[in-house]
Amino acid sequence: MTLIARTKTSSFLDNQIDVAVIGGGLVGATLACALAETNLSIVIIDPNDQRQISFDTAYDMRVSAITRASQHIFESIGVWPAMVAQRVSPFRDMRVWEKSGAGVLTGDLTGDLTGDLNSEVHFDSAELSEAQLGHIIENRVMLKGLYQKLNVATNIDLLFGKPCQQMQQIDGRWQLQVGEQSVSANLLVGADGSQSWVRQQLGISTRGWDYDHSALVATVKTSEPHQETAWQRFLDTGPLAFLPLSENYSSIVWSTRPELATQLQHMPEAQFKLELEQAYESKLGQILEVGPRACFPLRFFMADNYIGNSAALVGDAAHTMHPLAGQGVNLGLLDAASLAQVIIEAKDAKRALNSLKVLRRYERWRKAENMSMLVMVDQIQRLFGSDVSWLKQLRNSGMHWFNRLPLIKHNVIDYAMGLHGDLPKIARHVQLPLNL
Ligand SMILES: Cc1cc2nc3c(=O)[nH]c(=O)nc-3n(C[C@H](O)[C@H](O)[C@H](O)COP(=O)(O)OP(=O)(O)OC[C@H]3O[C@@H](n4cnc5c(N)ncnc54)[C@H](O)[C@@H]3O)c2cc1C
Repeated sequence: MTLIARTKTSSFLDNQIDVAVIGGGLVGATLACALAETNLSIVIIDPNDQRQISFDTAYDMRVSAITRASQHIFESIGVWPAMVAQRVSPFRDMRVWEKSGAGVLTGDLTGDLTGDLNSEVHFDSAELSEAQLGHIIENRVMLKGLYQKLNVATNIDLLFGKPCQQMQQIDGRWQLQVGEQSVSANLLVGADGSQSWVRQQLGISTRGWDYDHSALVATVKTSEPHQETAWQRFLDTGPLAFLPLSENYSSIVWSTRPELATQLQHMPEAQFKLELEQAYESKLGQILEVGPRACFPLRFFMADNYIGNSAALVGDAAHTMHPLAGQGVNLGLLDAASLAQVIIEAKDAKRALNSLKVLRRYERWRKAENMSMLVMVDQIQRLFGSDVSWLKQLRNSGMHWFNRLPLIKHNVIDYAMGLHGDLPKIARHVQLPLNL
């Protein structure tokens, strides 16, 4: 087990940790970074050493579409330049179309894509006078940027190599057992992903379902440039997305029935290339290269509560959704930024950061915000997942009219860019009080 303890006023040594973050993935690490300039003592606990991220020229197969709101969070906590210095890929356009229906997109890429294409929806950053809609970033690039900051933060300990195995409240503090190490914390944050052990220990129930779909992911190189466009085609079996990286590389997310996903994962490369070309109508020409392929089962759930006694859940521990809208980690980063704000403002007002009143504010705020996005994404999945003919017609005409209603379209893009709703301060570039 690796313990990276700092020389600071409050540490494992005096057993007085303010905040223990269980799970050092993207969301847990962002929360800790947002608290790094305070004088709160923080520990991140994770069985995986998140600093040991190998980085080579090949792309990580796990990438995320990152909204403007998330970019603002990374900028505010000072980690964005480190991510840009590695590599981030802006996307300026988004094109969504369907396999079947009256207006199936059949034109070639060199033709006029804005012609009479009934069932294509086109989002263009230029329409919003924005430079881009968002960025596609490898998960390991984000983690590396975050841990560069955490490695030098004097108020943050990293306890890596073992999971948290025991948690119990004694005299109002959480006593945690991590391997042979004991930690005592005022506030416990579960950032330990969709299978959250913390959530289970707190006895927080969830409601949701398996989609009976898996997402196959891989990096591919195409013969035609992706035009800094995120492409998504709804097939009868589920959505297939091409997310633009640099040059002619794209990251694909192909959501489909689990048995089909497994077949696609293991079939010979030449056959996979042909299947993929056919599935996306060779929109970007031939598939020239395919990287390693992996599958992830897809679920939808919401935790019934985001808080427990002196405890809070953030990110996938609190909610998990279909990746078709690329919103999962973006919502998690907003959770992290909101919880950091609630904690900092409580400290600033000399209130206990683990009081029910403080934690309730976080829960009310994020539950309401997340719920609307979770429900909307689930509805899109259902609408496009159905082959009932009247629904097919409805979505075809819906897509047709959507393109012709600029105000509605504008609102939807704003929402997808994360610029809508009750945003935490750092997602709006507003500084938090840090002299606590
Ligand atoms: C195929 C696919 C594509 C996606 N694409 C996008 C996208 O484009 N945009 C987007 O916004 N979202 C996307 N998502 C969703 C996104 O990946 C998740 O929302 C995000 O990874 C959640 O981050 P997290 O930090 O909450 O959890 P995780 O990334 O799951 O991290 C949890 C951490 O907790 C640690 N842990 C687990 N148990 C314990 C324990 N007992 N003690 C201590 N630590 C523990 C784990 O080691 C891990 O480091 C996608 C998801 C999938 C499956």
